[in-house]
Amino acid sequence: MIPFFKISERIEVASQKALKLCEEQFNYINHVTEFNQLKVQKAFIDNGVSESHFNSSTGYGYNDRGRDTLDKVWAQVFGTEDAIVRHNFTCGTHTLATALFGVLRPGNKMLCVTGTPYDTIHSVIGISGEGMGSLKDFQIEYEQVPLKNDRLDYDAIEKSVDSSVTMVYIQRSRGYELRPSLSVEEIERVCEISKKKNPNVIVMVDNCYGEFTEKREPGEVGADLIAGSLIKNAGGGIASTGGYIAGKKELVEKCAYRLTTPGLGKEVGATLGHNRELYMGLFFAPHTVGEALKSSVFISALFESFGYKVTPRYHEIRHDIVQSLGLENEESLVAFCQGIQSGSPIDSFVSPVPWDMPGYDSKVVMAAGAFTLGSSIELSADAPIREPFYAWIQGGLNFHSAKICALLAAQQMEDKGLLK
Ligand SMILES: *Cc1c(COP(=O)(O)O)cnc(C)c1O
Repeated sequence: MIPFFKISERIEVASQKALKLCEEQFNYINHVTEFNQLKVQKAFIDNGVSESHFNSSTGYGYNDRGRDTLDKVWAQVFGTEDAIVRHNFTCGTHTLATALFGVLRPGNKMLCVTGTPYDTIHSVIGISGEGMGSLKDFQIEYEQVPLKNDRLDYDAIEKSVDSSVTMVYIQRSRGYELRPSLSVEEIERVCEISKKKNPNVIVMVDNCYGEFTEKREPGEVGADLIAGSLIKNAGGGIASTGGYIAGKKELVEKCAYRLTTPGLGKEVGATLGHNRELYMGLFFAPHTVGEALKSSVFISALFESFGYKVTPRYHEIRHDIVQSLGLENEESLVAFCQGIQSGSPIDSFVSPVPWDMPGYDSKVVMAAGAFTLGSSIELSADAPIREPFYAWIQGGLNFHSAKICALLAAQQMEDKGLLK
């Protein structure tokens, strides 16, 4: 019997069976988690992280040793020459935009090789919106290579990367698509192909949702610049806001000139007491990502056992933390999200309903009961109310907490006579 919560016998039995199915993936995830934990720990030790690095700075923030050392630790962990890790990045999109505007100049061309990028990047590039100061407004050209059967089209990439291309852009995570996420091995191949065609090309990776899901990071296999959010994987559920850019020293410097100003770059930026949580977040990140991966694997196995379409399936190796579930109709999506919300530690009493969200072309229902507003390393679910009626689920600060949320989601569906 599951203590404290009311779960039907059918769902409890299904849960036990699903857990058995997960064993092999859980072992693999534990293995990757341990590897990455040691990688992070070694970087802390090598850089002599000390309690004095948690001291706060104000004003210009000159000579903030904690901030400068964190950048070094970050670079070591992500296999890059340098990094800039700041609470001042407001979100992942802001971080990615800073990197793009940091290194691209008028007349340059950006080539996205993973099909259409994540929605919020469209107005940064200038695919949508006008007069907001997009890359397009600054005469930066954009092209994309579509995916072929949901996979990278290496031949088309090879044809497209010529001397006119300044940047090859890769999105590692599936985001809110049904395509598979990219492995670091696939990213490595894109780097090789691109540099063979144009040795000067900058390969940039949107690393959101991908950090610590594998033993290697894109910076270790030839990517020149990577960026991500701290309220996703790399903040370990501890960072309360922020982002990071890591890569070649000269490129990170240009990004720093964009974040602050030309000339000042990384030298300024008061940390206002954020250092401790950014260090602690990085320290927790491998483990937290492992918990989030296990949560996704379990949800996948559980809902597949009820007869729903799931991607990825429980036994597939994952390269991001995102899980999608085909729940087939609006009522089920709503019940699912309400069940997840009802088990969340924060705002459990709130009942999500479908809502017209800015930037979406249909109503969306969302479950999020998080310590950090909008954090998606914490368990959260979003479902646009439209064909094919999929819910996207990600995060889980700890597996046991995410597991009971998944069972409550199934229970909510069963109570409404919706569970297959
Ligand atoms: C989340 C995400 C972003 C944008 O990050 P925000 O913090 O939501 O602005 C960009 N790309 C991918 C793949 C993401 O998952």
